[in-house]
Amino acid sequence: MVRTAVVCGAGGFIGSHLVKRLKRQGYWVRGVDLKTPEFDPTAADEFRRLDLRDPDQCIEALRTPRGIPNEVYQLAADMGGMGFIHSAECEIMHNNVLVNVHMTHAAARLGVPRYFYSSSVCVYRDMATGEPEMTESGAYPAQPDNEYGWEKLYSERIALAYARRYGMQVRIARFQNCYGPEGTWQGGREKAPAAICRKVARAADGGEVEVWGDGSAIRSYTFVDDMVDGIFRLTQSDLEGPVNIGNPEYVTVDELVTAAAEIAGKRIRIRHVDGPVGVQSRNFSNRRIESLGWRAQWPLRRGLAATYPWIASQVAMMQRESVMP
Ligand code: NAD
Repeated sequence: MVRTAVVCGAGGFIGSHLVKRLKRQGYWVRGVDLKTPEFDPTAADEFRRLDLRDPDQCIEALRTPRGIPNEVYQLAADMGGMGFIHSAECEIMHNNVLVNVHMTHAAARLGVPRYFYSSSVCVYRDMATGEPEMTESGAYPAQPDNEYGWEKLYSERIALAYARRYGMQVRIARFQNCYGPEGTWQGGREKAPAAICRKVARAADGGEVEVWGDGSAIRSYTFVDDMVDGIFRLTQSDLEGPVNIGNPEYVTVDELVTAAAEIAGKRIRIRHVDGPVGVQSRNFSNRRIESLGWRAQWPLRRGLAATYPWIASQVAMMQRESVMP
């Protein structure tokens, strides 16, 4: 029997890559989103434009021509980088909680056997530089740095409560910062790796790029193929409770700029300016996801070498269009 999946958020960055992976695994896939993917036609067998803040549209999303799907992947969210997270608190809390309340309820009510929810390491408190690895249980007592993290924590709890009551198999991943080709790279919702690749692509050799904050904040960046592999392995597994997924290579924001500049073959000066930075440091355990055989296959430089040329080509295309008569 062909397995079936509904991917919510299939018009977005990680969702559209996940659809491709599920197709390679032989699934029949319905994609659901407010919008179709921006850069590439969807690989889904069927794509429905629905607003998952509405309970009736959540039910509609799950009633497919192949029946109730074997698996639901919930990646729909009002989402962006630090600039967006700090400027759109109300939209994030309002829209995302509605999507997750109604999707979880609809999935349990219709008897979806397996439900994946995309959470974030934003559920954790800030960490000090050099602090030992934090495991998943470190999310409590809760002290997320921003409202996006609080909403994620609450939505994890919704999914876990429905799992307890209805016996739905729920799998939850807490993603680290994810990047790769076909991710948002401009417009205010882009995250640090895409924003930095764009700034480097626009800068001349010997030029300058602006970095928010003092450049010392420590992060890990996970290439999208590694993320999708973690999502798929986790959803197939028996691993209950939240599971971190992230590249175990931690760098400062300045080091991220240096790596992008080296890949671009440009000498770049960094200018630090005021802007939303978020937490100072991250260091999370991957022991749970690694227990499933998952390993990050894309060190930062390899992932940036695959991402920078794609963003540079988008920048060049936009520059050509802006000078066209
Ligand atoms: P994205 O913005 O590219 O994709 C999210 C998609 O959800 C968008 O296409 C959007 O149109 C859709 N959506 C929003 N509201 C909707 C609604 N009401 N109904 C239907 N669709 C709706 O984001 P992404 O980077 O692909 O992130 C996917 C998931 O992973 C999100 O839940 C996000 O919070 C989580 N996450 C991402 C990262 C990252 O670094 N990208 C890190 C941590 C967690």
